[in-house]
Amino acid sequence: MSTNPTKHIAILGSTGSIGTQALEVVRANKEHFTIEVLTGNGNADLLIQQAKEFMPNAVVIADEEKYLYVKEALAKDDIKVFSGTDAISQVVQMESIDMVLTAIVGYAGLESTIAAIKAGKQIALANKETLVVAGELVTSLAQAHAVNIYPVDSEHSAIFQCLAGEFHNKIEKIYLTASGGPFRGKTKEFLSLVKKEQALKHPNWEMGAKITIDSSTLMNKGLEVIEAKWLFHLKPEQIDVVIHPQSIIHSIVQFEDGSMKAQMGLPDMKLPIQYALAYPHRLPSSFPRFDFMKYPSLTFEKPDNGTFRCLPLAFEALRKGGNMSCILNAANEVVVKAFLQDRIGFNAIPEIIEKAMSRVAFIGNPAYLDYVESDKETRALTRDFIGV
Ligand code: NDP
Ligand code: MG
Repeated sequence: MSTNPTKHIAILGSTGSIGTQALEVVRANKEHFTIEVLTGNGNADLLIQQAKEFMPNAVVIADEEKYLYVKEALAKDDIKVFSGTDAISQVVQMESIDMVLTAIVGYAGLESTIAAIKAGKQIALANKETLVVAGELVTSLAQAHAVNIYPVDSEHSAIFQCLAGEFHNKIEKIYLTASGGPFRGKTKEFLSLVKKEQALKHPNWEMGAKITIDSSTLMNKGLEVIEAKWLFHLKPEQIDVVIHPQSIIHSIVQFEDGSMKAQMGLPDMKLPIQYALAYPHRLPSSFPRFDFMKYPSLTFEKPDNGTFRCLPLAFEALRKGGNMSCILNAANEVVVKAFLQDRIGFNAIPEIIEKAMSRVAFIGNPAYLDYVESDKETRALTRDFIGV
């Protein structure tokens, strides 16, 4: 890649799990990447520290109450400081940016992703909720603005890597692998008593709190099924999920001749992040290498759809189309927050989401404002169900 100019990158959500790992990748590859924008929400101190190290053109602190604190801390540096969520959607349009890494968590990442696409920026997509909420809109906007969406999610990066050189060949189906989370093999009775501390202990990955809970309910895999549909133009019946507790095979593509390609490696998000940022190049890395002798058996199981209801609910939302995935996502964000605040039990998570899906008005062909409205309506209704 040495003959290529450096890529100028904006990292939205730089203070989170994906954001900090992306900065590790950039730190190790300074000749290839320049940071233009960093954004955080509540973690002002980390944002300031990152800004002083990477000297971006601009930073945004979404939490407006922290604006003065950040502004003063960076007063002597040549860095523009903004605050508020609208500012994120504005800075992504800066001329100097080539690629935007969307690593904000949840629905909050939608607006800035759309703004970046409309400004013609290439997207490295970690914020899967964007495609879950408004996959049709986001992918058609990307097409209209000649924007590529490079997946950061490890499963989708795996599929994308398997598709290199195969773009004219039809996909028969894909298998998304799932670790099964901390409660794999447990019964509904066991799950009725689990607390957030147990759910927050993921066996293979260290991630932000929301996605860690989503992994324990298998909603994360459900969101990934929907994400895969939009990224790779698949029908629901072309997407399958297989539990693979070791998280070594990151996903598999099966072609029309029956051949299957899988991508594997130790679970480390820095690899898919680096692949998305550096695409189409592979950069050398010092990430630990997989050792076959340490993994004498890689195993596979069927997901337990009776116990982990979130995964079939996501398939149902995908089949229904329209705003149903938006409803699924909004209800999920509210119940995950409530579970993290010890307001509801683990099994209430899918129960409440299912109720929201049956109650919020269905819209077959939603426009952007319909998504905004459905999100709002679902959140209000779901909070009512919980009593908060
Ligand atoms: P984290 O919770 O660790 O980080 C979220 C980031 O978004 C932080 O920078 C946070 O700021 C910022 N943020 C939160 N709310 C807002 C808001 N309302 N407005 C603006 N910024 C906000 O999440 P992760 O890094 O784990 O996940 C990020 C995304 O990547 C998610 O969509 C997740 O599904 C996806 N992903 C994550 C993986 C992982 O390994 N972590 C793997 C695959 C996908 P602050 O911390 O300053 O408050
Ligand atoms: Mg994933």
